[in-house]
Amino acid sequence: MDNNFDVAIIGGGVSGCAAFWTISEYTNIDKVVLLEKCDKLATISSSSKANSQTIHDGSIETNYTSQKASKVKVAADKVKHYALAKGLQNKAIFKMQKLAIGIGDEECEFIKHRHEEFKEIFQGLEFFTKDEVKKIEPKVIENPDGNDRSENVVASGFKESWCAMNFEILSESFVKEAQKANKQSEILLNFKVLNIKQNADGTYNIKAKDKREINAKFILVNAGSHSLTLAQNAGYGKDIACLPMAGSFYFVPGNLLKGKVYTVQNPKLPFAALHGDPDIAINGVTRLGPTAIVIPKLERSKYLFGNVNSELVKIDFKVDALKVALDLLKDSEIRNYALKNVMFELPWIGKKLFIKDARKIIPSLKLSELTYAKGFGEVRPQVIDMTAKKLELGEKKIITEKGLTFNMTPSPGATSCLGNAKTDTIEIAKYLNKSFDIERFQKDLEQ
Ligand SMILES: Cc1cc2nc3c(=O)[nH]c(=O)nc-3n(C[C@H](O)[C@H](O)[C@H](O)COP(=O)(O)OP(=O)(O)OC[C@H]3O[C@@H](n4cnc5c(N)ncnc54)[C@H](O)[C@@H]3O)c2cc1C
Repeated sequence: MDNNFDVAIIGGGVSGCAAFWTISEYTNIDKVVLLEKCDKLATISSSSKANSQTIHDGSIETNYTSQKASKVKVAADKVKHYALAKGLQNKAIFKMQKLAIGIGDEECEFIKHRHEEFKEIFQGLEFFTKDEVKKIEPKVIENPDGNDRSENVVASGFKESWCAMNFEILSESFVKEAQKANKQSEILLNFKVLNIKQNADGTYNIKAKDKREINAKFILVNAGSHSLTLAQNAGYGKDIACLPMAGSFYFVPGNLLKGKVYTVQNPKLPFAALHGDPDIAINGVTRLGPTAIVIPKLERSKYLFGNVNSELVKIDFKVDALKVALDLLKDSEIRNYALKNVMFELPWIGKKLFIKDARKIIPSLKLSELTYAKGFGEVRPQVIDMTAKKLELGEKKIITEKGLTFNMTPSPGATSCLGNAKTDTIEIAKYLNKSFDIERFQKDLEQ
C-alpha cells in the first residue's frame, strides 16, 4: 500500500463520512483516506443507539434563538436533500410529526411568542391548541384516569416532516457513494491515531497504536469527543476545555407517541430539552431522554470505570476551565438540574425520579412501563471557551491554516455534518490548490 495521501480524515463517524463523500464526489483531490479506530464506522456518537435521531433544524428546539435556527436549518436541509436524493426514505430518513409543546400558562405564552417569530423562518409551521394537540398527539393530553390533564397545553410544529434520521445508516451511505465517486478513496479500520507530527516537507505523519503509519498533506480531524485531545497533543486548542456531558435514554414499550415531542428548555442549557419520540431503529418502542450528566469519559462504556479518560486531566484541570464549571454550578437552576440528572442514572431511584419529568410529555406513563435504555446514549463534548470564560452552545472548529483542522461536534453535530463538510472542503481544496465543484454541491444539496 502507498502510505502517502492528499487528505487523511481521522474519525469515521457521520462528520468524517460526510467529509469523505464531499471530497471524493466534488473535488479533484485524488487520494483520500478515512481512519477509524473501531472495527466499524459510526459506532460512537453517530450510532442510532447514541443520539436522539433528530434532524435538528431549529423549528422545535426551544433552546435555539431564531438566528441559530436560521443557521442550523441550512445544514439540516442538506442532510435531508442528500437522504431523499439517494433514496434513503424509511431506511435512514423518516417522516413523522414533530411538536414543541408548552405545558402550563408560562410555557404556553413562551411557545405562542416563539411560534410568531419562528413561522417567518419555517414555512408551514403550525400552531396547535390543546384540543388540536389532543387530536394529533393524544397521549400528551391524557391523564392516567383517561380525562384531560388540567394544565393548558399548546404546541408549535409540523404534522409531517422528514425529521428523523438514522445517522449510522447515513454514514454508511456517504462511504458507499464516496467509493463509487473516487476509486482511490480508502478506509482504514482499527486505525487508532496516537500521534500527528509535521514532516520536514510540511506534510504530516500519522502514527497508529498498532504502529501503522501514513503521511498526508492535509489532516481533517473529525474524532468527535477525541478531537480536542488530538488537537492539544498537536499543540492547538489550548484555550479550549471540554465538559463531557453524557446523555442516557429510557424506553417505554409501544408507539405511545406519533412523532417527536420536545419540551421547553432552560435557555441556560446548551442542548435540546427532554423529549419523547418513536425509535426509528427499534420497532414499537418509544424513547424518552436524553438526560445530562458530567462524566470523566470521552466515550461511554458498559463498565462503570471503563473508558475513564486520563487525557481529560490535561484538558480540563486548568484554573479557567474549572472556574467556568464552578460559575455554572453557582446558578441554582443549573445546580439542581445537574444533581437531578446524576440521580437519573442510579438504579431503581433513577427511574422513580425520571418518570416525574417524563410525565410532562406522557402524563399517563406507569413506572412499570419505563426501563433504563442500557447501552444507549453517548457523551456530548461541550466546549468551554477559556478566553471568553463560558460554555459554548454548539460545535467548535479549530482551523490552524497549516493543513490541519479539528472539529468538535456536540449536538447538533450530526445534523451539521454536510455543513461542516462544505466549510472544510473549501479550506482543503484551497490549501492543496485543487478545485471544489461548489456549484454542483449547492445544486445537489441546497436547492
Ligand atoms: C445523547 C445525545 C443525543 C444527541 N442527539 C442528536 C440529535 O438528535 N441530532 C443531532 O444532530 N445530533 C445529536 N447529537 C450529537 C451527535 O450525535 C454528534 O454531534 C455526532 O454524532 C458527531 O459525529 P462525529 O462524526 O463528529 O463524531 P462521532 O460519531 O463520535 O465519530 C467520531 C469517530 O472518531 C473515531 N475516533 C476517535 N478518536 C480516534 C482516533 N484517535 N483515531 C481514529 N479514530 C478515532 C471514533 O471511534 C468515532 O468513530 C446527540 C449526542 C448525544 C450524546
